[in-house]
Amino acid sequence: MANQPAEPLAPHRRPGSDRHHGAGPQAVLDFPPVPNGIDYLLTVVTDLLPDLAGKPPRIKYAVLHLQAAAEVLLKARLSRVHWSLVFKDPGKATSTKYADADFDSCTTDEAVVRLRNIAGIQISQKEATALKDLAKDRNALQHYGLTHNAKAVESRAATVLDFLVRFIEEHLAPELSESESLAQQMGTVRAALKLIQSFATERMNRLRGNELKDAEGRTLRCPDCQQLAVLTKATPCSCLFCGRNWPAYDLADYLRAGRHPGSPLDECPGCYAPTLTDDAEFADGKATLYCTNCASRYAPAELGNCAACGCYWPIDDTEAGRELVCANCDRRIRQEEDECSWM
Ligand SMILES: [Zn+2]
Ligand SMILES: [Zn+2]
Ligand SMILES: [Zn+2]
Repeated sequence: MANQPAEPLAPHRRPGSDRHHGAGPQAVLDFPPVPNGIDYLLTVVTDLLPDLAGKPPRIKYAVLHLQAAAEVLLKARLSRVHWSLVFKDPGKATSTKYADADFDSCTTDEAVVRLRNIAGIQISQKEATALKDLAKDRNALQHYGLTHNAKAVESRAATVLDFLVRFIEEHLAPELSESESLAQQMGTVRAALKLIQSFATERMNRLRGNELKDAEGRTLRCPDCQQLAVLTKATPCSCLFCGRNWPAYDLADYLRAGRHPGSPLDECPGCYAPTLTDDAEFADGKATLYCTNCASRYAPAELGNCAACGCYWPIDDTEAGRELVCANCDRRIRQEEDECSWM
């Protein structure tokens, strides 16, 4: 989503003009992006809720409007730190370009990074990932139509919506207290969001009471819809919430995508496939090394590194007095020792 055309952030006044007119810091309150963002959110909740006739949610429009809301609102907050921060390249920012809204603005990814690093705003990894995926969904929609798992897109949209509602309340609040109609609109968005979340909660509760019952130790968070709803097994597993199938290598890649994109995976000491990851989140909340190929789970303390090749290996497999070596290296070393003893 590079080079987004700039949303009109402050077309009414030139940045810095407050000083000349003596309007003081309160003048920023007439920035139009917040009402604009809330207006988008109102259409998003309408899109995400099934209508009275039971027609399914209009996911496509929800994604388009939600992405627009996210861009406007994140950048509105950034522009309060400094207007140049909404430029793709703040070093090339000029007040004329800003006033004319004639510039490439930063992506939502970049906005998240700047909000975290410069404005000190806390945005969790889960929220950042949901924002990133939403931007991808929006691009895919614009180019190919909705080809992706609708339930997962819907679930992500709900996460972003939840984030944006809190973001407005915590970081863009002044407008809300100033305008009764904005406060009312936010009330509508909040109520609809509760309803949307209750649908997901109901489905998850049903799953937890049935298919996922007493399986916390085998239930993984789905990297796609973000629900704790993938029941692990050695063959390709699938998400019971969004229905996505997860072949071992896809699952491993997706699990690592957030924290270690592109880095090689560790080899599993059980099946030797390079599909061991510490990025799997289980319903029981325990830290885990998990192999997506054979579905083995290891506590981090159970595994050490082979002194010869560095791969993970069960610690209790070590002979007393010997260094930890994996079966492969052990075989090789013993062979070499045998060969030496013949000479
Ligand atoms: Zn899922
Ligand atoms: Zn394995
Ligand atoms: Zn080894």
